[in-house]
Amino acid sequence: MHIRFLALAGMLLLSSVHAANQAIQLPSPAAPVRNAAELKERIAVSNAAVKPAESSRPVAPAATARQRASAAIDNEADDMQLLAERISARLAALRKNREARPPVSRKQPAAAVAAAAASSNGHPRHDWSYEGESGPAYWGSMNPAWSACGNGKRQSPIDIRDGFRVNLEPVQFDYQPTRFSVLDNGQTVMVNLSLGNTITVTGRSYELTQFHFHLPSEERVNGQSYPMVLHLVHKDAAGRLAVVALLVEEGEPHGVVQQVWDNLPLESNDAVMATVSMDPAKLLPARREYYTYMGSLTTPPCTEGVLWIVMKEPIRLSSQQIALFARLYPMNARPIQPLAGRRIKESN
Ligand SMILES: [Zn+2]
Repeated sequence: MHIRFLALAGMLLLSSVHAANQAIQLPSPAAPVRNAAELKERIAVSNAAVKPAESSRPVAPAATARQRASAAIDNEADDMQLLAERISARLAALRKNREARPPVSRKQPAAAVAAAAASSNGHPRHDWSYEGESGPAYWGSMNPAWSACGNGKRQSPIDIRDGFRVNLEPVQFDYQPTRFSVLDNGQTVMVNLSLGNTITVTGRSYELTQFHFHLPSEERVNGQSYPMVLHLVHKDAAGRLAVVALLVEEGEPHGVVQQVWDNLPLESNDAVMATVSMDPAKLLPARREYYTYMGSLTTPPCTEGVLWIVMKEPIRLSSQQIALFARLYPMNARPIQPLAGRRIKESN
């Protein structure tokens, strides 16, 4: 009987640990397990719940079930040693798996996750899209907080042309290898970076917080669109935004972008913390001439006052790398907005 019980306990524990890798499926409680001790406690509760099927004893409280399990373990030390080794290996795998995951519960509905992500960015809603009745033409009327999308006068993207050719000071990029996570937020693939990467321009320092992708490019240059664009979003201490745009043309595979694709989450509204670091400096083109103008976020709430820096030299992604993103997001570019008298400057 002890051996039968042990075998049952072992199978339950192992299958429960396995289940916890995907989603906790124990009968009760349903909330995610936070640590190994809590997991063991729940398994003990689970054992108590199924015990009547294996024994004539009445349903025992969890503590009694644990005591019975302890007694059985004492009597079957060899079997338990083997079991303990297997359990600790599974728990180590579970811990590793959980550490690699972001602090987002898979049990939350996608909409709740999107709303939480949205509210953390100050957006009250996140159900806009790139087509139909939630498309760009309607963003401004979908939510009062997004009115700038409809009536703003300094919106992005624009068709960049007729810039003033001047001696623009180089943007100083202080980027270094950094931990990162990849989020598929339902609108794009976004790479969130640890702190420590800055740009300095016109005497101000801005911290790189994330970059993301659009297909095709949102910006045009003299009417020309590009297959994709990367937007590197920076923020200064006062909350002012500076976005560096890297236009993409087809060419050789890009190593840093491949790191992003390699860590792509399996599901929308999910994120993967990469186990390697990336060097965002390797995203940049060799030549550092650029166009610059004042614009806005290109997604709701379309906030204005964003310093745009569009690098003149495109970077290159392979056709396969572009095709991979196109399968996820075949079109996630806002249409061109009126320049409305704004000034564009460009490096000589
Ligand atoms: Zn963007």
